[in-house]
Amino acid sequence: MSIFSKTIEIYKDYYICPDCLGRMFALLGTHTTNLERGNSLLLTSTLEYHQKYLSSDNESQKEALVNLKTLAENARFIPSRKVLENEGIVYSNQNDKPQCYLCEGIFSKIDQYVKKSLEPLSKIEFNSLLVGTSLDPHIINKEDNFKSKFSLLESESFKNHFNRVIGRKLTKKLNKATEFNNPEVTIIFSIGYNSCEIELVLKPLFIYGRYNKLIRGIPQTHWDCRNCKGRGCEECNYSGKQYLTSVEELINPIFMMHAKSTSSKFHGAGREDIDVRMLGDGRPFILELKDPQVRSLDLLKMEKKTNKKMKKKVKISGLRYSDKNEVISIKQSAENTRKIYRALCQISETISKVEFLERYEELLKKMENNYIKQKTPLRVSHRRANKVREKKVYKIEGSYIKSTLFEFKIEVQGGTYVKELIHGDEGRTTPSFAEIFKIPMKCRELDVIKILQ
Ligand SMILES: [Zn+2]
Ligand SMILES: [Zn+2]
Repeated sequence: MSIFSKTIEIYKDYYICPDCLGRMFALLGTHTTNLERGNSLLLTSTLEYHQKYLSSDNESQKEALVNLKTLAENARFIPSRKVLENEGIVYSNQNDKPQCYLCEGIFSKIDQYVKKSLEPLSKIEFNSLLVGTSLDPHIINKEDNFKSKFSLLESESFKNHFNRVIGRKLTKKLNKATEFNNPEVTIIFSIGYNSCEIELVLKPLFIYGRYNKLIRGIPQTHWDCRNCKGRGCEECNYSGKQYLTSVEELINPIFMMHAKSTSSKFHGAGREDIDVRMLGDGRPFILELKDPQVRSLDLLKMEKKTNKKMKKKVKISGLRYSDKNEVISIKQSAENTRKIYRALCQISETISKVEFLERYEELLKKMENNYIKQKTPLRVSHRRANKVREKKVYKIEGSYIKSTLFEFKIEVQGGTYVKELIHGDEGRTTPSFAEIFKIPMKCRELDVIKILQ
């Protein structure tokens, strides 16, 4: 069936707007709009049937007249009406504005929708956008039945048309780019025949930096109270927290406030224990700020502000913008980066400096550039799978402070349990410092002093 006959078939039963008519043939012809396609189709149909009407063939003439009337009466197409008027043919002249069977006038209200979305968009900062549509299933069902009834195989979906038309108007009006992969804002129109709700989905803002934890006793991230799981109880003084604060809680609020973000996440490249300081150049982290209304932050100023406020507890440095992929890569690389620790170790008996040096020699011989085996430590066995991990010890430097106290600098593979490497964890880590020294030894203080990339 020709596109002209199909057009006539449609208008015999329904009125659809020129936008929707063009949309039904959207895969034919390119570099035009559905509105233009629809109007052209009505016009060329008129030409086609006008020519047939003027022919000498009686049958063709009759058929052409019926079709011209369909275009004039049902499609309300002015050029068809004019042709009939010029030929002196009477047709029923309905001056009503019928409602499109498919979109029920939605496509004629595009400018209203655009205007409605400008208000929430004016409150946020963004450079790229994408329009998305959530359609009332009634609209979709009606279209599906319509398309199958007339075998319209070259049509475009309501959604595609709507997204593109609104997207074009918005990008032009706001002078912003459309971005399909990762737009800074996705504007979702929930469309029904008589309703339009607008929701903005904002891309999170990612900020990379390194942190130093200058005091002991705070975890890297917020921990819910073990007793009440965050609800608040007597044990946690109704704070819902196991620890009063954390590196995350010290850093994030300042950024959330400036970015006008609703929530945040702290992604660390690994973590140190609560009682371990993070010194030296610090540990990489990425802040994820969700629903940020502001995206351009003065990072240098933020760094200074945070450090001034956090004084002796936490320090941040090297801030720059980041992305989701880097969150994954810093998490993955944490296992493979080497770390240098400073450990202050204590023994229960006393040994002389000579004895220390003898055992220290043996320690270097057995451990440096060798692998140790660690079963999951007892203290974390409740949250970690029980398995044996092989970790490499690269370098050890030790010094005798007094008969019961030594200091070691230990360079190990990421993921090594250093406290267990020292005390042996009841034989679960082997060899260990205690095992080689043949004296129970414990780690009194531990600091990370360098993370090597
Ligand atoms: Zn329509
Ligand atoms: Zn509690």
